[in-house]
Parts: sequence; structure tokens; C-alpha cells
Amino acid sequence: MNEFELIDLIRAECALQRPDVRIGIGDDAAAVEVPPGCELVVCTDTLVAGRHFPLNTRPEDIGWKVLAVNLSDLAAMGATPAFALLALCLPDADANWVRAFARGFAELSAQHRIALIGGDTTRGPMTITVTALGFVPIGKALKRSGAMVGDVIAVCGDLGAAAAGLRYLDTHPDCGRAYRLQRHRTEHQWVDRLDRPLPQVEQGIMLRDIASSAIDISDGLVADLGHVLRASGVGADIQLATIPGFESIREHIDADVAARLVLSGGDDYALLVTMPQNAFEQARSALIASGSSLTAIGLISSEPGLRIIDANGNSVQCDNAGWDHFA
Ligand code: ADP
Ligand code: MG
Repeated sequence: MNEFELIDLIRAECALQRPDVRIGIGDDAAAVEVPPGCELVVCTDTLVAGRHFPLNTRPEDIGWKVLAVNLSDLAAMGATPAFALLALCLPDADANWVRAFARGFAELSAQHRIALIGGDTTRGPMTITVTALGFVPIGKALKRSGAMVGDVIAVCGDLGAAAAGLRYLDTHPDCGRAYRLQRHRTEHQWVDRLDRPLPQVEQGIMLRDIASSAIDISDGLVADLGHVLRASGVGADIQLATIPGFESIREHIDADVAARLVLSGGDDYALLVTMPQNAFEQARSALIASGSSLTAIGLISSEPGLRIIDANGNSVQCDNAGWDHFA
């Protein structure tokens, strides 16, 4: 296959059309409409093989994940996703690989009605970049900087499962690809969360008018909450036992390890939000009614820094500041 056949293949698999795409794949650049009264919200994220996903990850899961991590960023802004661009750097032109990859990408993009409007295709070590574009009403994008003293800190989604899945793969290197198809074991469900993160898109939109700040948890709770605290100039107190995912992982894994997984494991793609205490119950009910969840894990404080307390009232040390590619 040559470059243009590869592009045609991707285009055929990702065929979702939107009326607001004026010029899509096939020209030098795409042209899209932005609804009146809206801002364009744009983000980009790269996955490097062996670094952001295990080398034996199925291509359809890589296709899903590279879009999911970008949708998670748009969700954290409260944006409605609309378009995506895909820059593929591949070691060879393997049609079966590209078709499977594009199917995984298309599966998630169809769920959110996202049109693939362009990209780039080159040869080299496997590196995949997606740029995602979405809309918010003008001035309504959620930011990291709005947390106020006294706000509730809440998580939408569960933490730790993807990190538990990665840990399971580390200790089961003999697990081929077949195991990922049998998802009745808890460990396999963890691996599924690693391979197929679930971006909290509708949840981000629902929280847009309620939350005082938001971030998606990609590098681990402690690291990403740290970004909110720094951007907002506040501190926080959180309770380990209330973190969604902790108790269920602890049923299978030693408590210290479970704590590390939910606090700093990463790859969660849950949403971390803050909001006034009097807004929490209504927000929680609305999210539960829509089949989701919202769990309070602590409070924003005027005392700088982050304090984590376990169920016995002891302070939990967590020095892992998250993932830094250049550390
Ligand atoms: P140019 O040389 O002008 O940059 P290309 O030949 O790279 O154009 O791409 C031709 C068209 O195919 C463009 O519309 C581009 O956005 C699209 N395209 C290239 N690679 C991809 C890809 N991996 N996924 C989606 N669209 C792509
Ligand atoms: Mg050109």
C-alpha cells in the first residue's frame, strides 16, 4: 500500500459525515463551521508505542485510545466534540493493521458524532497524534483555575483500574491478545479500561455550568489535582477511602498498592471537578440519573498543599507527582 491508499482506507473506515464540515479530507486543509455564540476548543495528544500503550496492544484499541485521550481533554473543558485530525507515523504500510486501527477510531468517533477531517501519514517509529476540536458557548469553557476555598472536590468516573490493568500485564507477560477478548475476570476488565478508556464527554458538558474548575485525570489524581491547586492558588484535603475505585481494587490487591494505583497510577481519563458545596447533591443526582457517577473525595482549603487521610485518620504519603516525560 502507498500513502494515498492508506489515507483512502482510513477515510473509508471513518466515514461519518457532518453538515458543518465544508471541506474535509482531500484538500490541503479542512474548513469547518463554528456555531454562532460558540468558541472552538482545540487539543492534541500523542501516543508513542511502548510508552503510552504496551507494544502488543491491539490496533483497534490503539485507534480507540488515541481518540479517547483527546476527547477526555475536551470533556474537561466542558466542550462538545465535533471534529478530529489524525497524524499517523507508522513503521510500515500494513493494510490489516491500519484497517483495524481505523475501526477502533471510528467506533468511538461514531459514538460522539465526530468527523475525521484530515491528518498526515508518514513513515517512522509508531507515533500517533490526534487533534480534537469541539465547541463551548462563549466564555463557558471549564478551566483548572477556578477552584474556591470550601468547594467540594469530586470525581466523575472511577480511578485505578487502568493502572491495575497495566500492573496485571506486567506480571502476566505470557498473556497474548486473546485474553483481551474474555472480559469476565476483574483483571481483564482492568486491562479493558487501560485499552479502551471511557472519556466523560456528556458528563463534562453537564458539569459545565456547575463546576468551578475541572481537569481530566490522565497522569494520576495527585498530579492532576496538583495542577488545579496551583492554577487556583489553593490547597486540598482528601480522603483515600472515598476515592471511587479504591475499595473495589483493594478487594483484589494489597491496600498500599491499591492506594498508589488510585492516587498516582494514571491513564484513568476520569474527570476531577470542584464546585460549591450547595451545588454538589443536585449535580450528583443529575449524573446518576444519566447512568454516570459523581463522588466527593474532599474539600478545597486555604492551606496550601495536598493532604491525604486514610480511613483511620492517618496521613498517606504520596510523593509521586505523576508522569513527566522529561524527568
Ligand atoms: P498535503 O501534502 O497537502 O499535506 P497530504 O497528501 O498529506 O496533503 O494529505 C491529503 C489529504 O489527506 C489531506 O486532506 C489530509 O488532511 C488527509 N490525510 C492525510 N493523512 C491522513 C490521516 N492519517 N487521516 C486522515 N486524513 C489524512
Ligand atoms: Mg498541500
